[in-house]
Amino acid sequence: MTTVAVLGTGIMGSGMARNLVGAGLDVTVWNRNADRARPLEDVGARVATDPAEAVAGADVVVTMLFDADATAEVIESALPSLAPGALWLQTGTVGLEGTARLAELADRHDVDFLDAPVLGTRQPAEQGTLTVLVGGPEALREKAAPVFDAIGSRTVWVGERPGDGHRLKLVANSWVATVTAGTAQAVALAEALGLDPRQFLEVISGGPLDLPYAQLKGKAMIADEFPTSFAVNGVVKDLGLIAAAMREADVHDGVVEAVATAFRTADAAGHGDDDMAAVVHAFRP
Ligand code: NAP
Repeated sequence: MTTVAVLGTGIMGSGMARNLVGAGLDVTVWNRNADRARPLEDVGARVATDPAEAVAGADVVVTMLFDADATAEVIESALPSLAPGALWLQTGTVGLEGTARLAELADRHDVDFLDAPVLGTRQPAEQGTLTVLVGGPEALREKAAPVFDAIGSRTVWVGERPGDGHRLKLVANSWVATVTAGTAQAVALAEALGLDPRQFLEVISGGPLDLPYAQLKGKAMIADEFPTSFAVNGVVKDLGLIAAAMREADVHDGVVEAVATAFRTADAAGHGDDDMAAVVHAFRP
């Protein structure tokens, strides 16, 4: 049986850990704030008191932490306890520079590494229907398969280099953030022009301009209810990673900078922990 350690049981990591247990894998979890890991005991995971204890004896380690710095800090304390030949699946969104930095750490400790960010939010994480975007040697596919099959419904092997998974992840997240900000702009404009903003969602419904995501997030914006699937502060972090990739690739970043300004405004207004739909507050007068 594959033994898996999950480091980071926030919104995404806890859903993923549940599905790993559900798939019959032997799962140990660790989270900085232990209160967020403890409920996983009820479904059959072991809760470790520190990252080193969590990874001891693991075949596979999954990191699902906020950013590259948090991941580096946590994994550095765990790597010395990792068995030789273990595989590290790095699933948090850490950007291109972050992925290179973490891959180098793995290399230094002789640990196999796959860059494996995921598409999908709270519900797909809980349902085991994420899309995993992988960058790394295909020779590791078989070893990673029990974990990828448990957490996702689709694995896309983007390329052989660590960073290839993240390249596609950043492209997809540039789309997610831009669509959400665009929906917020339209909703706030409709409200400010004295319309019922539901008319905007109705008028695009079912046509070529419609998008399930715009309907979902647009309804949350209109209701002013933001239970968190993906927090505003996470989007701010990701937009920084996207902007860095755009600068590096010499792609015009004017739109992403405007989108980032909107999310930063919502963050500064106290909506950092709210769902990304709360970006509508950056547009309302
Ligand atoms: P979350 O619920 O806020 O979880 C963040 C995790 O990182 C928690 O386990 C948190 O621990 C940990 N953490 C943060 N700073 C840390 C530090 N300095 N040291 C140790 N642990 C630290 O966020 P999430 O939505 O699950 O996101 C996790 C990752 O998945 C992020 O990279 C995010 O961009 C990515 N992602 C999110 C979604 C989504 O829709 N939510 C989708 C795809 C990818 P504490 O609980 O102790 O704070």
